[in-house]
Amino acid sequence: MAEKQEVVLSGIRPTGRLHYGNYFGAIKQFVELQEQDQLCYYFIADYHALTTAKERVDYFRYTLDMLRTYVACGLDPKKSVIYRQSDLPCTAELNLLLSMISNIGHLERGTTYKDAIAKLPGGNTDGPDGNPISYGLMGYPILMAADILIVQADKVPVGDDQRQHVEMASDMARKFNHRFNCEALKIPQGVSRNALRLPGLDGGTKMGKSENNDLGLLDDPKLVLKKVKTIPTSTDPGPIQGDSDAPADIIPQLAPGLAVIYTLLDLLAPEDVYLDFVGKYRRGEKFYGMLKNTLAEHINDFNAPIIDGFHAEGNNDESVKQFLMENAEKVTPVALDTVENCREAMGIGRSLYRA
Ligand code: ATP
Ligand code: MG
Repeated sequence: MAEKQEVVLSGIRPTGRLHYGNYFGAIKQFVELQEQDQLCYYFIADYHALTTAKERVDYFRYTLDMLRTYVACGLDPKKSVIYRQSDLPCTAELNLLLSMISNIGHLERGTTYKDAIAKLPGGNTDGPDGNPISYGLMGYPILMAADILIVQADKVPVGDDQRQHVEMASDMARKFNHRFNCEALKIPQGVSRNALRLPGLDGGTKMGKSENNDLGLLDDPKLVLKKVKTIPTSTDPGPIQGDSDAPADIIPQLAPGLAVIYTLLDLLAPEDVYLDFVGKYRRGEKFYGMLKNTLAEHINDFNAPIIDGFHAEGNNDESVKQFLMENAEKVTPVALDTVENCREAMGIGRSLYRA
């Protein structure tokens, strides 16, 4: 029965088109989880997108495209509850309630906030305009806690970068229940996801929607070839040490651009193709042109059904809006229940106008 099922929750920001990091780091697992006996909530984190917005961006367009890509990748809105964060506005209310028990020092130690500070020129937080980091970005862990706690999630599969934030959500739930002597909030668990972190095509540490270094699931063959050709292969890291050809042994020894290529080859090509190119590398042959062409072919084979699915009849803006509505309706009762219990626990009482 639905009530007894474990609730799994995960979200992606609609900050661009979905890329290979999103697929192999998240969506692939979403699809696997949906086939198990769990209640899966996957939300489009549009409020979160705003934490790093510098101007108006058509996040709704990205949302629709992401959802059509989800469907093309095998996510089924009848099996998983796929909703938009802002269609559950009581998340914002819970965010406000939780902010009342959140310690500023704690937020300053949040990884997202610290990363944002580190990216400022000279790591400087003063300057004539003051700290350019918004209150919203600093409060990101509270909003994330609200996302998790509002639907009473049991498990939150996250990459290592987000683990700290899930722990903060658990701490907030414990603190809330303790301070207000209630059990309004369920304590969630972080679940480590496979540690795969796909580097960017520029060789940078992480492929990201907002980094301009991504390989997209909807990229067409021309674009794929163009992007693959620009992966830097000029630095020569020298010979590979050891006899093992296993990706875990080989890839860390490669220069960043080649590491991306071999990582993708390992994910997409049959093993003998990957091994063949490891052999060529070991023998010091000249093969980068062929390597890139081969990789591009495998990427195109992978993208082709996703591109077809994206354009398939029945998978369009209207169908996506329809299931967004249906799924928002499905999560709303549990979310309202949570926020009403929190209001009651804190002493302001239940909403008088909300049914
Ligand atoms: P942005 O650059 O706007 O932050 P993003 O590409 O990092 O976008 P998110 O919405 O922040 O995407 O993350 C969505 C999910 O995809 C998360 O679960 C995250 O762990 C995963 N993910 C994102 N980038 C990668 C990557 N390079 N490798 C593995 N997983 C990734
Ligand atoms: Mg991100």
